[in-house]
Amino acid sequence: AAKDGGRGRYHFYAEDLHAEAEEKAQLEQDLRDAVVHRQFELYYQPFVSMQSETICGFEALLRWFHPEKGWIPPSRFVAIAEESGLIDEIGEWALRTACQDLARWPEDVRVAVNVSARQFANPQLPSVVSSAIRRAGVDPGRVELEITESVFLSDDEGTDAMFAALKRVGVRLALDDFGTGYSSLGYLKKAPFDKIKIDQSFVRGATEADSRNGAIIASITSLAHSLGMDTTAEGVETLDELDLVRMHGCSHVQGFIYERPIRAEDATQRLLTGLTAVAQGPRSTRAPRQ
Ligand code: C2E
Ligand code: MG
Ligand code: MG
Ligand code: MG
Repeated sequence: AAKDGGRGRYHFYAEDLHAEAEEKAQLEQDLRDAVVHRQFELYYQPFVSMQSETICGFEALLRWFHPEKGWIPPSRFVAIAEESGLIDEIGEWALRTACQDLARWPEDVRVAVNVSARQFANPQLPSVVSSAIRRAGVDPGRVELEITESVFLSDDEGTDAMFAALKRVGVRLALDDFGTGYSSLGYLKKAPFDKIKIDQSFVRGATEADSRNGAIIASITSLAHSLGMDTTAEGVETLDELDLVRMHGCSHVQGFIYERPIRAEDATQRLLTGLTAVAQGPRSTRAPRQ
């Protein structure tokens, strides 16, 4: 019976793998249709200055509305878009759309756009970025590109050249999800980042009395500060977390405590009431995950 059980489990495992591969292939096909039929939308989440408690800008976050399955989160399709190469086209659409939306917002508000490692390895990226900026007629200094540490995995010369080219375009650069990847201080030394985004995993649980996460946040902010970079704490959900990341020196905060990602027209509407941001949320209990 034990043997049977073992074989049965193996069988299930193989079936699972098969089902997973099929689902992935289906998603990739659907993603191709999505590009043609423009089923994407950008949502925007503000990042807030701790010093002035005002909105500095919005991060553009990709949403896919699937005709049958409804909303599909980026965690389920961005990797597939990267593997299939579709991310170049989707990413170009995102850059153009974000710049057009930015053109409707006050001059002192920026937009941050996520750029995947595959886009970053594409030599066309600087011209795609500068054409999106020119078409929208916005100042390049108002556009921030969010890059993860994974870009450093590929060849050095190409990476260095890409940083230089993007700096020539005049955009700001942010290092996203810092601390989760292959974090090397060498990257911080040679890459011209304007901002480090501290990953949510450090913020979560940072409020515990004996907090290693708190110590890590404090170290990152002091390092960033000495290098002349801003720090944004990602995923701040509670007032306790907000107090703590502020105390540890984060210059900016992004998270549900200020706002969930909202539609472009809601962001535009929100800005009409001014830039002042008010933290609103539970003291210490995290809200249920979206
Ligand atoms: P990310 O760039 O690190 O974006 C932050 C993620 O954290 C977003 O998830 C956002 O909705 C979520 N978030 C913000 N505040 C909170 C909070 O207080 N609590 C919690 N639990 N979550 C919070 P989202 O929108 O699902 O995006 C996931 C990831 O997908 C992004 O992580 C980014 O890596 C990728 N992504 C999103 N849009 C794009 C895009 O246009 N291009 C590329 N290449 N990747 C994208
Ligand atoms: Mg990001
Ligand atoms: Mg992040
Ligand atoms: Mg992320």
